[in-house]
Parts: sequence; C-alpha cells; structure tokens
Amino acid sequence: KLFFILLFLVTTSYAQTEVSKVSVHMKVDSLLAKMTLEEKVGQMNMYNGFWDATGPVPEGGSAKTKYEHLKKGWVGAMLNVRGSKKVKELQRIAVEETRLGIPLLIGFDVIHGYKTISPVPIAESSSWDLKAIKNSARVAATEASAAGINWTFAPMVDVSRDPRWGRVMEGAGEDPYLGSKIAKARVEGFQGDDLTQKNTIAACAKHFAAYGFTEAGKEYNTVDIGTSTLYNTVLPPFKAAAESDVKTFMNSFNDLNGIPVTANEFLQRDILKGKWDFKGFVVSDWASISELIDWGHAKDKRQAAILAARAGSDLDMEGNVYIQELVKLVKDGVVEERIIDDAVRRILTVKYELGLFDNPYTYCDAEHEKETIGHVKHHEAVLDIAKKSIVLLKNEGNILPLKKEGQKIAVIGPLAADKNSPLGSWRLASDNNSAVSVLEGMKKYTGNTLTHNKGVDLVIGNTAFIKEVQINTTNRDGIKEAVQAAKTADVVVMVLGEHGFQSGEARSRTSLDLLGLQQELLEAVYAVNKNIVLVLNNGRPLAIEWAAEHIPTIVEAWQLGTQSGNAIAQVLYGDYNPSGKLPMTFPRNVGQIPIYYNYKSTGRPYNNNENVFWSHYIDVANTPLYPFGHGLSYTTFKYTNFTIHGKDFSVNDNIKITVDVTNTGNYDGKEVVQLYIRDLYASITRPVKELKGFELVNFKKGETKTIQFTLTKKELGFYDNNGTYIVEPGDFEVFVGGSSYTVLKERFTVE
Ligand code: BGC
Repeated sequence: KLFFILLFLVTTSYAQTEVSKVSVHMKVDSLLAKMTLEEKVGQMNMYNGFWDATGPVPEGGSAKTKYEHLKKGWVGAMLNVRGSKKVKELQRIAVEETRLGIPLLIGFDVIHGYKTISPVPIAESSSWDLKAIKNSARVAATEASAAGINWTFAPMVDVSRDPRWGRVMEGAGEDPYLGSKIAKARVEGFQGDDLTQKNTIAACAKHFAAYGFTEAGKEYNTVDIGTSTLYNTVLPPFKAAAESDVKTFMNSFNDLNGIPVTANEFLQRDILKGKWDFKGFVVSDWASISELIDWGHAKDKRQAAILAARAGSDLDMEGNVYIQELVKLVKDGVVEERIIDDAVRRILTVKYELGLFDNPYTYCDAEHEKETIGHVKHHEAVLDIAKKSIVLLKNEGNILPLKKEGQKIAVIGPLAADKNSPLGSWRLASDNNSAVSVLEGMKKYTGNTLTHNKGVDLVIGNTAFIKEVQINTTNRDGIKEAVQAAKTADVVVMVLGEHGFQSGEARSRTSLDLLGLQQELLEAVYAVNKNIVLVLNNGRPLAIEWAAEHIPTIVEAWQLGTQSGNAIAQVLYGDYNPSGKLPMTFPRNVGQIPIYYNYKSTGRPYNNNENVFWSHYIDVANTPLYPFGHGLSYTTFKYTNFTIHGKDFSVNDNIKITVDVTNTGNYDGKEVVQLYIRDLYASITRPVKELKGFELVNFKKGETKTIQFTLTKKELGFYDNNGTYIVEPGDFEVFVGGSSYTVLKERFTVE
C-alpha cells in the first residue's frame, strides 16, 4: 500500500512539474507573440546599475540613456543594483511604465555570501561537506533575495590547476569529480526546491568554458587545451550544474581553439544547448560581446552582435552591442528573428520560473530585508562552514591544540588583527572590516596571556585594487618588536598570507611566496622561538616550502568570511577538530605549476610507488608540497580490510567496495574517506588516479566503521575525443585513503 501511495505522490508531483512547464511555455509563447522586435532585443540587454540607493537618475550621459531604455522596455536585466527599495522602484518602472510590463532580472555577484560572508569557495570546497556547502549557498540566497536580488552570478565551476590565477579562490579547485559535486550543492543551495519562493534565486554556472586554464595563470589570457582535457576535466562540473537545473550559464573572457567563447557555437550551441539540452539562457561576461572586437575576431559592433547571437549568447552584459545592433540586423535580414525569439524565450522562461510575473515585488519587502540580513542563524551557518573549511597541513611537536590557560602566546603577523582580509575578494555587499579577526577570536576562547605584534605591513595605502607598489617591501620597523615578543612566549601564532584583495579577478601572481616582508618576519621569529603555529589566510595555494620544512605546525585557514577568527580560534584551542582536505595541490615552487594529482603516467622515471609517479625536474623534488586531498586531524585514522565484493564484472555492474576505518588517536574526529581509480589501459590515456567517491564520516575515539562505495558505469568511463562517454573493458586499480596519497590498493577487471 505504502508503495502505491509513494508511487501516486511521485507521479502526481512529476505530472505537476510537467504541467507547470507546459503552462510556462504557453505563457512565454503568448507574450512573445505580442512583443515588438525592439522589445525582444530589449530583453537581451543587461545594464549595470545606474543610480544610487535613493535616486535620482544622474542628468545626461549613459545613465540617462539607460534610464530611458528602461522606461521603453528595452532592458531585460540589471546588475549591481541592490536594496529592496531601489529594486522595487526599478521593477515598478519595468512593470508599470513599459508597454508590456515585463519584470527585470536583478543580477549580482553573490559569490560567497551577501552581507554575512561565508568562506571563499576554495575554502568551502576544502570541507568536502556538501550539506554545509549547500547550506552556505542557501544563506547567501536568503540574504541576497531579501535585498531585491533574484539572480546570482555563481557558482563559478571552473576547474583550475594554476594557483597563479587569482580566481582559483572562487572555484572548487583542480578536480572535476569534486567540482561536479560542489557545483550541484551550490546550485541547489541558491535555487532551493521552489524558485518562486522569496528566498530562492536563479544561479549561474560560470565561466563557460575553460577560463580556469588561462595560459600561465595570467588573467584574461588565451586558453590552449586539448580536446580530452576539455571533455574530461573542464566540462564535467558544468554538466553537473546543468543536470542540477541551473537556470543560467555565463560565458567567459577567453578563447578556445582561436574562437572567443562568446562567439563559440561549438560550446554554446552544440554542447550546452544541443547535447546537454540546456533550456535556460547564457549571459555574456562583462562586455565580452563588445570585446570580440578587441580579440580581433569581429570587425565592429555589428559583426560582434552577429557572431555572439548566432553562437547562442542570449543576454548582453553591459556590452551595449545587442541593443545598438540587433534590431537593424534582423530588419536587414542578416540575423534571423528565430535566433532572437529563442534567446528571449529562454530569458522569459527564467522570469516566469522565478515567479516574477505573478509578483514582481516578491524580492522587494523592506521589512523582510531588515529582519533577514545579518540574522544570527546566518552567522551560525557561516561559522559552521568556516570551521569545516580549515585544513591542518602539518602538526608536529604537540603544539596544537593550544592549552586554554597558563600559556603565554604571542600573536604575530600583518593578518592577525585584520578584520577585512578574511572577507576575501567578491564581498560587494558586506561592510569592510566586519570579520572577526584571529586576535579577537583567540581572546574570546582563552584565559591565556596574549600579546600582539603586526611585525610587518602587507600592503600600504588603498587596498581595493592592490598594485605591486603597494606591497610593503621596505618597512622593517615592526620586526624587532615582534621578535622581542616571540622570545618570551610559550607559543607563537603567526598569521600570514594574502590580503583579501590579493586574490580574485584580475589578481594573478607570478610568485606564490609569502608576499612582502612576511618570509623575513617568519624567519626572524623562528630564529628565537621554534614553537610556531603558522596560520595561513589566503585565497589560493601558496608555495611555502621553507615553512613546510621548518615550522612545526601549519594551519590553512584561507579567507573564512565574517566568522573567521572564531572558527580559527575554535580549531586552535581544540574545540573543533579540523577535518578539511585540500581541493588543490600545493606546489613547492611556481616552476612546478601546473602540478595536480590526476596527471598522466609517462612511465618515466621508472618508479613503482603509486604515490610518486612524477616525471622529472633536476632542481626540485618531483612531488608536490601538499597533495590534493591532504589534511590532518588531531586524531589519526587507520585503513584496513579493503575489499572488492565479487569478481568478473561487466560494464553494467555495480561494483561494491568496502573499507574499515578506525579512529586510532585520542580525539573524536571526522575523516574524508577518499576513493580513487586508475584505468590501466584505454584508448585515451588515463590519469594515474581519479577521485571517484568520498565520504565525510564522524568517528568517536577508538571507533571503527565500514565505509561502502559503489562504482558504476558513471565512474568507470571517460570521454573520447568526440565527446562521447565510453566505458572500456579492462583492468582497473582502486585506491583508498585520507588523501590522494592513498594507503590501500586493489585491482579488478571489467569484461
Ligand atoms: C566577471 C564575472 C562577473 C561579472 C559581473 C566579470 O568581470 O568575470 O565573473 O560575474 O564581471 O560582475
């Protein structure tokens, strides 16, 4: 009986979804039939915000033109406007003053929180905790939607192997499998179960595609990758986002095989809207349609419009190209109206799905905004994910956890009292200096004597956009005092890394050292006191080989957002046992980049250790400093009884694998149990290891649990060079452990 009730519920809810899809189609079609060509092209036009919170519209200039366009119904979306009052006024104009009253999409970069800031995405990804990641996106959507926003330009799902690229802080790291799981979690978090609710917003998978492979990690550079990397490494997280019903995609600034992505029919039409049957719309990146001219791909705006529209870029973000060119192009018979109709249909569909036609003011409730933004529950949620994001890189010498009483602790470093840097890049709506600093957090959790010395400044002057000249390389005045304080301390906690704006968009670096005089400070302190806990605050993997060799304890705390100092203090004092694992390899030096765990085996140098297959440099070890998946705990784990259940598998079988994991240390703790495979021979060369499963598991002290994984066709195959997913029979190795440096290995055959 229960079965039939369930079946009834499932089929009726499926039927309802189908009915509502059909009814949205019908509404869109009927609206489209009423639209003039100008109004259609207007829907394909997005403007950057053009007045301040209270008005008025500036006289003259482009702002005036934009305002006039809005009143004519020639604007489909706006970005960078926020606040329920302001958005309400814009919606009012769109809905009440234009002929057809089509509401606006209000887009904003809600990358890791709105006002209450979560850890930067690379940090959150270190938690490997999909529930917490989803919840963090939920919080961000709840606050942003209360401020009038109905669409976020997130998640960024670009896989990257190059920490020189400043935008790795916005992504989930180097792995397509982990990246796909996180893409799904974040899309579901933003969009919720029902997009018409006032606390859910449309998400945007960006940047489609291959932006993370920008050559030499240099921002806004060209991309040159092979087909196999595109299909097997770059595209999977985007596909996962599409399968999670993400409503929009953003294209990217780079080119691919010589075609700028904005004009790339292969990516946008053939793959995204063709093979993947994506029904939402594609927004250009900022001005990327007009930049087709800068690429030397389009002669002028007219040609840029033709190329971008034909390639399936549906909405022009602040490029001013579509609005100026498309009407004429259609009238001249150069661009077919069905291309315009297709784009507009997609954009209107998302507006209907958001419920904007039923109530354009859903997101514009000032009372709700006041109650919601900065809610204590949001702070609890971001503290939760902040603790989970911390990675204990090294823990020798029994310094951590710190004692709560009776220790004299010197807290040193330019980031120790910094309340701004923990917010990281992309926190456009938060208040500057609104994070809890490490020093503040530590004071709260201890009866210890704490002293504080900055030691050195990281940057000098305005920090919104850091230039080389602003990094302090000369002022050593504070080093002596810091050394003095360190001399008499039991423990030194050093907080070093990057200022909040030293990673992010347009923040590529050619060195990954501790910037400015931080290394000098670290060595000076080390010379007088070796009991150091190095706490890193940064938006990307750093090359800290000296520290890894000398400093006994290293905590990777990234940029953890509003609750940063509380999260770090809880970990340092042992109130929270760290369980984070790196989503991206830490190199020894910049010359090793790109260095990543899932590389190909060339057979050389000959070496039978499956953890060290690295091919050769003569001036540096062939291993990374810290591998993908690495992260310690205050307790230890032992892996035994690794078993593949059954044999003689066919490609359609589910292969059950179990392993026993025991907490062998002195604390309760969590472990991310990781499963990797290697396809030993295939028609396309396969990586030496590929993550294909993970479980985040709680263990009491002394407890053993049996962890089960299932490998199916979905995990065993790969894309060939035509983009077809195939599973080839043959031999596979399977590995398990607490990092990509796995501890146990088995083997099976698929016939
Ligand atoms: C970035 C996008 C962002 C957009 C809007 C661009 O420069 O590449 O990621 O969403 O600006 O702010």
